Amino acid sequence: MPRPLTALIFPAHCRLCRAPVSNGPDLCPGCLHDLPWLEAACTQCARPLAGAVGPVLCGACQRHAPAFDAATALLHYRPPADHLVQRFKFAGELALAPLLAGLLATRIAARPSGLPGLLIPVPLHPARLRERGFNQATELARVLGRRLGIGVDHRLCQRIRRTEPQSTLPLKQRRANLRNAFTLSGRLAAAHIAVVDDVMTSGHTSGELARVLKQAGARRVEVWVIARAGH
Ligand SMILES: [Zn+2]
Ligand SMILES: [Zn+2]
Repeated sequence: MPRPLTALIFPAHCRLCRAPVSNGPDLCPGCLHDLPWLEAACTQCARPLAGAVGPVLCGACQRHAPAFDAATALLHYRPPADHLVQRFKFAGELALAPLLAGLLATRIAARPSGLPGLLIPVPLHPARLRERGFNQATELARVLGRRLGIGVDHRLCQRIRRTEPQSTLPLKQRRANLRNAFTLSGRLAAAHIAVVDDVMTSGHTSGELARVLKQAGARRVEVWVIARAGH
C-alpha cells in the first residue's frame, strides 16, 4: 500500500526514540513526559533551584543582579534536552526549532504576566553565522514570535566582536570577554523586550546584551531560553 503523502512530508516518528507518533511529527507522549522540564528556578536568572516554590532569587542574583529582570528556561540542559539542542544547532536539524520553541511558547502563554513588545535573538558574529549558515536563536525567536504574536527584530543588534566561546574561559575572564561585544543599529521599538537564545550557561552573554538594551532605553528585559545549564 502506498504511504500517504503527509507521511513523506512529516515522517511520523518520535525525534528521540523513533516510535511512530500519530498526532504531530515531534515527540511521542513518553519522551515528551520524560523531558527534563525545569520547574523550580530563580525568577531572575532561571538557575535551577531544587524545591523552590513561588518567586525566589538565587544567591548569585542576590549578590550581583544581572542586567535582565527575569528569565524563563523550558528545560534543564541535560540528556536528552542537550542532544536535541545540539542536533538543532550543530547538525542543522532545523525542524527541531518548531518543537522546542513551540513548547517554550506554550509555557510562556500560560503565565499570568504581560508579554514583551519585541523579541531579539542573541546575534552570532557574522563569521560564525557564515560558518553555521543560520542563527539558532533567530530560528527559535521566529517560532516564538509567530506563536505569541510578537515582532522579531534580528537585525537591530549585532555582535561586533568575535568572542571566545565562554566555555573555554576561566570564570573571571568571561565577563570581560563579552565587554563591547554587542551594538545596536537603530532605535528600540518597545520598552519591554525578551532576548531569545538556545541555552543559558553563566548568563553573562544575555546579561551583556540586556545591559546594552537598557542603555538604549529598554525598561524591562527578559531572557527566554530552551535550556538552562547549572545545578
Ligand atoms: Zn519517543
Ligand atoms: Zn538567579
